[in-house]
Amino acid sequence: MKKYTHAWLALKATQLLKSYQGKFNAERNQRLKRLLKFLSPHPSTFVRGAWFPDTKIKDNCQGGHTWKYYLDPTNGRGERRRPPEHNRCLSFVQGNLHRKISLDKRTSDLPDRCEALGQMIRDSTLITNKIGRGDMLIFNDSQIALFYLMLAHYISDAHVPVHCDKRDFYKPSHVHPDLEKFWEDEVKKHYQISTKREQFDLDEDGNLQRKTAQSSYEQSILYKCDVILEQLEWQNMDTEDTNWNSLLGSGNNNFWDYLVSVCLVSFNMSLLLFSLDPPAGIDYNTVRIMDDPNFEPKVIEYSPDILADAVSSVALLWLAAWERWELLKQGIR
Ligand SMILES: [Zn+2]
Repeated sequence: MKKYTHAWLALKATQLLKSYQGKFNAERNQRLKRLLKFLSPHPSTFVRGAWFPDTKIKDNCQGGHTWKYYLDPTNGRGERRRPPEHNRCLSFVQGNLHRKISLDKRTSDLPDRCEALGQMIRDSTLITNKIGRGDMLIFNDSQIALFYLMLAHYISDAHVPVHCDKRDFYKPSHVHPDLEKFWEDEVKKHYQISTKREQFDLDEDGNLQRKTAQSSYEQSILYKCDVILEQLEWQNMDTEDTNWNSLLGSGNNNFWDYLVSVCLVSFNMSLLLFSLDPPAGIDYNTVRIMDDPNFEPKVIEYSPDILADAVSSVALLWLAAWERWELLKQGIR
């Protein structure tokens, strides 16, 4: 994913969390309120912060942004982790998830990055709160906010189908860049952005502003994504269980498990969009997917669900990351 898509997803995740205020059990509602208060001064930093993994850290080649599977009927194994049922893409690929797969270990680190950042958020917040202001060893709020933005980056990448597929769609193929450019162009087309300042134009409450003159919005994938998010309820949202992992899906005990389950779905979405055997006359190394009737309609069909899932995951794991340190502070695992 590209620069403004990453920040857009993180800003949408904040909006989703705002819309969920009051919908959880009492303890979780209070923790959500404190998370939103923490995030509220920082939206102007979202574009740069959520992009640091690509511009400053650049661990793309080390696998930080990817978790790449391939079908492997002989030596592979079944992956049993599943995302929560509110994951929209799950319904498109559910019947294929049992197939034996293997991982390209060289380019697969993404769930580890997310788990590490989740624990770093917990640790840095606890250290800061326990030591108190003025001590040289504390983290300030904007440093901790940066960890949230970096976490959002890697979570969003897990939802990009081609990030979870061992096939090389990047070079010389254009499939991967074309897919991400399509999303980036849509975000830039429909939202007010000050590219010089590297910021989205936000209202007083930190909400994204659409370009009102853009009449094609209601036909766009972003509008459809909005419609999905307006109706989206997380599985287990009404649980009385207040532990931070209670919303991650049955059997998923930490960020790592959750991300593996998301990447399994993303890999199968990649096979759905870009079949193992390309359509007759198509070469994946040369095709331009947004100009080709074999791919363009499918990309447009599934993009709203892919992007809505990414927004929802960022929101879910941000809340879990916040709850993780608050609960540890109380001595609850
Ligand atoms: Zn990335």
